[in-house]
Amino acid sequence: MSETLRVHAPGRVNLIGEHTDHTGGLVFPMAIDRGTTLTYTTADDVIELTSDGAPGALSISLPFEGNPDTVEPHWGAYIAAMAAEIGATQGMRGHVVSDIPSGAGLSSSAALECAIGLALGFDGTSLELSQAAQRAEHRATGVPTGIMDQLSIASGVAGHATLIDCHSLDVTPYAVPDDIDVVVKFIVHRTLEGSEYGDRVAECQRAEDEIGPLRLASVDDVERITDDIAQRRARHVVTENQRVRDFAAALSRGGYDEVGRIMTEGHASLRDDFDVSTPQMDAAVESINAQSGVFGTRMTGGGFGGCIVAICEPGALTDGWVVAPSAGARHIN
Ligand code: ADP
Ligand code: MG
Repeated sequence: MSETLRVHAPGRVNLIGEHTDHTGGLVFPMAIDRGTTLTYTTADDVIELTSDGAPGALSISLPFEGNPDTVEPHWGAYIAAMAAEIGATQGMRGHVVSDIPSGAGLSSSAALECAIGLALGFDGTSLELSQAAQRAEHRATGVPTGIMDQLSIASGVAGHATLIDCHSLDVTPYAVPDDIDVVVKFIVHRTLEGSEYGDRVAECQRAEDEIGPLRLASVDDVERITDDIAQRRARHVVTENQRVRDFAAALSRGGYDEVGRIMTEGHASLRDDFDVSTPQMDAAVESINAQSGVFGTRMTGGGFGGCIVAICEPGALTDGWVVAPSAGARHIN
C-alpha cells in the first residue's frame, strides 16, 4: 500500500491593495492560520477526491484534456483545471478538509488549487505554482482574476504579510508585529462567477486605453480620463497603490493609527469609486470601526460580500477570528 501524504495551503486575508493586481499594481496580503489540507495516496492515472466542504465524489482520468466546466461535482472544475495546467499524469486518491469558509474572500479556491498542484507532484518555484493556479482558476471559472490570491498563498512567510508587486511579481515579506490583532469577520457568502468582477477589469482597461498603465499613473493623469466610470475605477486603483506603500511604511514603524486610517480610506474608495461594496459590508465596517481599540477596518477580497478585516489592539475584538500570519502552501506530515 502506498504511503499516506498530506499537503496544506493557507487561506489569505488581504490587508490593503484591492483590485490592483489585475492592473499589475501593489497588494499587501497575509497567508493565515486557516487553510485547506489534502490527505492522499498517489495513484496511477486517476484523481479520486472527496471534500468535507462540498458534496459529491470526483473521479477523473489523467491526463485531463476536457472542459473543466463539464466536470461533476462542480468543485471538481478547479481540480481538473489544475491537473490540466501542470500536465499531471500521476494521480492520487484523497480527501480535502478546510476551515476557510468558501466564497468568503479568503481564497478557498486558490488554496484548493495550490494544494492540488503540490499533491499532483508539481515541483517548480512558488511563483510557478501560483501562475499555474491562476491559469487554472481562469480555466475553471472564466473570471479574469489577478495573481494575488495564488501568489500570496504559494509564497506566504510565517510571521509576515507580503507586499507583492503584481507587475514584477516581487514578493517582499513584512513582519506583522505581535502588539496588534488582525481580525477577520465573515459577513456573507458571495461568488465572483457571474458578478461584476469582469466588468471592473474591463473598466480599468478602458482607463488604461486613455492614460496608459494605471500602475504608473498619477492622480493628475486620472483627472484627464473622459469616461466618468473609467475615471472613478482608475482613481481607486491609483490611490490604492499609494495606500499599499503608505501602509507598509506605517506598519513597519508601528504607526497603527495611520495603518487603520489607510484601511478605512481603502474601504471608502472601494465603496465610492470602485463600486464593489454593499450596504451590508459598509454597515459591518462602520460598526467594527466604532468599537474601542480598533485602528481600522475594510472589506477584503474581490467584493460584493465576503469578509471584513480589522486591525486592533490585542483582545479589542472578540467577534471574529484573530488570524496569525502563516507559511505558504507546503507538504506536511
Ligand atoms: P473564495 O476563493 O473567496 O473562497 P471562490 O468563489 O473563488 O471563493 O471559490 C469558492 C469555490 O471553490 C467553491 O464554490 C468550491 O467550488 C471551491 N472550493 C473551495 N474550497 C473547497 C473545498 N474545501 N472543497 C471543495 N471545493 C472547494
Ligand atoms: Mg477564490
